[in-house]
Amino acid sequence: METAITCDYQNGVYCVDSGYEGGGVVSVYLLRDGNETAIVDTCSNAALEPVKRALSELGVNDREVKYIFLTHVHLDHAGGAGLFAREFPEATLVVHKRGGSHLVNTSRLLASVASVYGESVTKRLYGDILPVPADRITMPRDGDEFRVGSKTVVCFDTPGHARHHLVYKDIPSGAVFTGDAYGMSYAELVGPEGRCAILTTSPVQFDPSAMRASMRRIDGLARGDIYPTHFGRLSTGGGVSDSLYRQLDLYIEAAERAEGDIASIRTRLRELFKEEASRQNCPCLASNFGRVTVTALELNAQGLALWYKKNRGKS
Ligand SMILES: [Zn+2]
Repeated sequence: METAITCDYQNGVYCVDSGYEGGGVVSVYLLRDGNETAIVDTCSNAALEPVKRALSELGVNDREVKYIFLTHVHLDHAGGAGLFAREFPEATLVVHKRGGSHLVNTSRLLASVASVYGESVTKRLYGDILPVPADRITMPRDGDEFRVGSKTVVCFDTPGHARHHLVYKDIPSGAVFTGDAYGMSYAELVGPEGRCAILTTSPVQFDPSAMRASMRRIDGLARGDIYPTHFGRLSTGGGVSDSLYRQLDLYIEAAERAEGDIASIRTRLRELFKEEASRQNCPCLASNFGRVTVTALELNAQGLALWYKKNRGKS
């Protein structure tokens, strides 16, 4: 059987493809040192199988998983948290203080996701969401540190995509796990000059100025490479970083011009995706509107329309 480890980045940092939406979409990262391991984001329940295979390839038993670091509680990042907690009995789940209660009582989270995707798609993508026992959760403060073997992992409060968002830095390797705080780049979004990236402004807490501030903070932490959940290590050089800041400005302009009208925002985002595809020399960004990018575009449009309604609607 093929290896479940999609990429070994050295220094005890690994990427496992969760298989979500056909693969190349959601990474689960593993951090390993000595006889301790951490998981960064769980994706959905279905990710457990490839993650367990990867762990067994690394010789890790279930009790050696010490932490499950969650970047935020959107279900493509944390939908499997309850199942993972049951499967890795020694693991502490690390989650933002605004996210912890949603893992213990999942009903509001599920209702919120169903309001975005619809109930049948939510069920297909995520299955049964298991709650996490409250005594398995820790909710750190900005700058708190965790030990994984001899590794020190530091967490940073990074709102903007969501208010419940944390970014983690593995100090010895320099890897910064950015969740959805610094754009996303599916595995297939690659052109002749390398990977390209799109912003994620999905509902319901998108906040552009917080996102900009968090991205600046990540610039200071990461110095060149980031590890977004979508998908695998990404160099922020080669115009990727500039492009994401530019997208943020253009998205806000689009929402304001459209006065929050979702159909107009959607049309403008489609043009912007195409413009970015040509700016970043990424033909597949322009051509794959039949697959995951179409979901990204729709979620971004919904997030922008909602942001406009909440912040600009009645002024
Ligand atoms: Zn998210």
